[in-house]
Amino acid sequence: MILILEPDVDRHSDAFHALLEHLNRLEGIKHRTHQVKGSEQVLTEIYLIGNTAALTEEEMSALPCVERVIRISDTYRVLGRHKDDHRSSEFHYNGVTFSQDSFHVFAGLCAVDNPTNVERMFQALQANGQTCARMGAYKPRTNPYSFQGHGSDCLPWVFELAGKYGIRVIAMEITHDRHIAEIEQALEQTGNPTGVMLQIGTRNTQNFELLKHVGRQTRFPVLLKRGFGITLEESLNAAEYLASEGNSHVVFALRGMKTNMGDPHRNFVDFSHVPVLKRLTRMPVCIDPSHSVGTRAADPEGIMDMMHVTAQGVIAGANMVLVDFHPDPSRALVDGPQALTLPELPWFLEDVGIAREAYLRRRELAARPRLVKDA
Ligand code: PEP
Ligand code: MN
Repeated sequence: MILILEPDVDRHSDAFHALLEHLNRLEGIKHRTHQVKGSEQVLTEIYLIGNTAALTEEEMSALPCVERVIRISDTYRVLGRHKDDHRSSEFHYNGVTFSQDSFHVFAGLCAVDNPTNVERMFQALQANGQTCARMGAYKPRTNPYSFQGHGSDCLPWVFELAGKYGIRVIAMEITHDRHIAEIEQALEQTGNPTGVMLQIGTRNTQNFELLKHVGRQTRFPVLLKRGFGITLEESLNAAEYLASEGNSHVVFALRGMKTNMGDPHRNFVDFSHVPVLKRLTRMPVCIDPSHSVGTRAADPEGIMDMMHVTAQGVIAGANMVLVDFHPDPSRALVDGPQALTLPELPWFLEDVGIAREAYLRRRELAARPRLVKDA
């Protein structure tokens, strides 16, 4: 059960203390307080865990400070979408809004290589009206002898260049909890010219200690990739790890599943799960066409498979697209074969725009009142 408290409730007030005292007296029930900072107000939610079946909604809504009561299922307590649960999924970070209604493209380098390429990428993004990007500094690689990313060494100049071209949020994978401190330090050192969305890669979706660390900090929002060989439910539980530790600013990314059934694509594209995620949870949903498809193969009209699957995810309501670009893919240090080129950026963005517009029209169509006729 979740108690939604009145907005901006004072946690030092007598009413709040009276509420906690009442909750402390409930046998077999533990409670946990979560604060959700919106742009205008702070929302406090109290999660009641344990034997809540005996509690009535009337009784709980009559308690001091309580505005609303939601009875929730056991799974995905924080991030799930529960019956009669109209809580917003929206959060704001560094001037950018994320929700199940927003839409952003995060294009950029799978792996940061040199300042020239990073600058060319940011320049192209700015020229095309983009304020978000992807940049990989810590790369988890299958082969220990492959390039592992420049790590913390590149962060100061990547952040400075991002700031120079008006990039507000960079999706950046981390593979160890110390990377959070390294990112924080580089941002401080450069005067916070940009922001970072911490990415948990598919190989770390069930690295529970990493999830707990990332969940305990609330400075950075999180992009969680679906695990490539586990069920959707298992990946959603991973997202809930972040939220249960205190960070519910989580975007969930579909990136394809590992199976030969998807051949000749790199992974089996799973973007049909976009509406499933929106129904089961309140998280914004991201799609990653690059790691799903993995090649630049195209249909006879010249439209790349990557662009087709992007359109399929966007027309189904995806809120974010994470996509690999590179100024010179043949020289990219990681994942060159799946990178789009800078001259392809305006084409990609326009194509995505068509799909987004179609999704918004489909939403309008679904909302249109219609007469139900007897058969
Ligand atoms: C990436 O986005 O660079 C990446 C490694 O993705 P994934 O974790 O989905 O393989
Ligand atoms: Mn990659």
